[in-house]
Amino acid sequence: MVSVVILRLGHRPQRDQRVTTHVGLTARALGAEGMYLAGKDQSVVASISDVVSRWGGAFFVTDGVSWRRCINSWKDSGGRVVHLTMYGEPLPVMEETIRRLDRVLLVVGAEKVPGDLFGIADYNVAVTSQPHSEIASLAVFLDRIFQGEEFSREFPGGTIRVVPSRAGKIAEET
Ligand code: SAM
Repeated sequence: MVSVVILRLGHRPQRDQRVTTHVGLTARALGAEGMYLAGKDQSVVASISDVVSRWGGAFFVTDGVSWRRCINSWKDSGGRVVHLTMYGEPLPVMEETIRRLDRVLLVVGAEKVPGDLFGIADYNVAVTSQPHSEIASLAVFLDRIFQGEEFSREFPGGTIRVVPSRAGKIAEET
């Protein structure tokens, strides 16, 4: 199965903390391996790492990366770069090609992304050609690429887990 790591661009510490944290948490819950954050924000790293330590799994988060260096070293090591953008090719057309890849660096923006990213990415992929949100586009992308298998993923090593129930909130802590 293709492995997916997120590269979050354009993070503004004052404005985007909550959304960037949710990008990381959504990526983790829906089967990505980790997130690189272009920009420094230890509070985002701390929030996501706290969830990982309590809820399990091996999701990593690294801030302070240079997006160009991150993309270059990803490509040098044989990985492919997918940029999520409403200007790209439709996900339903691209999903089979992407599923056949080995390692994907999935780039999501916050504000306007650098124009040359469109040429640097191996694939520019749209989750509809309408403007919406990085969290929504990420979630739909991962679900389409993993074809629902993210619902049965395990998160070993956590100290808390939900016991699914029809009514009420049941969680087990160890
Ligand atoms: N105004 C910004 C621009 O012109 O690039 C868009 C910012 S949008 C709120 C933030 C991110 O959400 C984008 O960089 C892109 O990664 C993602 N996004 C938004 N709509 C999308 C769509 N229809 N398909 C794929 N990704 C989308």
